[in-house]
Amino acid sequence: MPISPSLVRELAHDCGFQLVRFGPADPGPHGQRFLDWLEQGRHGEMSYLEDNKERILAPDSWRKGVQSAIALAVDYGGPKAELRGGGQVARYAAGRDYHRWLKDRVFALRKRLEREGVPYGSCNGGADAVPVLERALAVRSGIGFLAKSAMVISPTHGPYLQLGELLTGMELPFDEPAIGTCGTCTACIDACPTGAIVAPHEVDARRCISYTTIELRGFAAPELREAQGDRFFGCDVCLEVCPFQKKSPLIDVHGEDRPKDLRPHALLSQWTLVDVLDLDEARYESEWVGTAMRRATRSGLRRNAAVALGNLGDPSAMPALLAALHDVDPVVRGHAAWAIGRIDPRHPQLDAARARETDAIVATEIERALASRR
Ligand code: SF4
Ligand code: SF4
Repeated sequence: MPISPSLVRELAHDCGFQLVRFGPADPGPHGQRFLDWLEQGRHGEMSYLEDNKERILAPDSWRKGVQSAIALAVDYGGPKAELRGGGQVARYAAGRDYHRWLKDRVFALRKRLEREGVPYGSCNGGADAVPVLERALAVRSGIGFLAKSAMVISPTHGPYLQLGELLTGMELPFDEPAIGTCGTCTACIDACPTGAIVAPHEVDARRCISYTTIELRGFAAPELREAQGDRFFGCDVCLEVCPFQKKSPLIDVHGEDRPKDLRPHALLSQWTLVDVLDLDEARYESEWVGTAMRRATRSGLRRNAAVALGNLGDPSAMPALLAALHDVDPVVRGHAAWAIGRIDPRHPQLDAARARETDAIVATEIERALASRR
């Protein structure tokens, strides 16, 4: 006997999803927007998007018999998150690694559905992991509307949404699109520190701090570093300025009062930016397990820490930055030089670093720092 849509919703709520909608499994007209975005190279180094574009556009090419998507969302709004003493962390990454808890919830729902008679293996679950355009599925099913920031905004829960989905062989009745638009608001476009929202609904990832501090490997573009400010991992500016953010039920819920998966990770109160600059492999592999911040890699986290320290301009960070000029990782050496150039470009150790540097990119970084003496 087919399962009733109301039971599917009930089970999804039981599994921890506040928003549950049914819609098509393919991205529909959002697919062309995605192709145009790829065509313009706005995905930067995220080649997995280019590599998987056929699968993304046509889920039935890899999931035979797919009929519908159960689109799911969890609100994660909350107070600003940062490391001890400064270094902002995007709210979605501040708690337990969302890849884990969201996947646990999606898979729990799949198991509950199978217990209710949905054929085993007929649902594919994902949470930022299967090749689908999650935002497109969320918009098409009515989780929210596509905002000018390119985020999905729920009229009832706001923009801080973790999205998940189950692609199913079930014929579920599709929900209506969400009611709401950005109207005449342009707050996110105006406030974006790097001008990454190049047009309404369109973000150039190459300029977006959420990309440059997380997905980008290697050296950050020098012209974007100052705008990064004290952001250590990701960026929430376009969400913070959004008038819909007040809709988030958790927006003012702090610390232990938050749901377990969304409580700030212990790392945040223990580590400073200076500590991260000195993060070694052993501690990265022990203490940083279970946080989404590992996505940036150890080198990326240390790079981000150097940039944030340079922007904070605190002279007490100088000993750590000077030590980082000797680091084995050229990315760390180069960004440490940049930060020193911001705090104390006349420091003699910059000259010594230039004299011994053999890596051409790092040498250019040091020369740029030295040039800021003038
Ligand atoms: S995350 Fe930050 S940098 Fe990226 S579009 Fe939003 S405001 Fe701009
Ligand atoms: S800040 Fe304004 S324009 Fe941007 S997403 Fe929110 S409502 Fe839309």
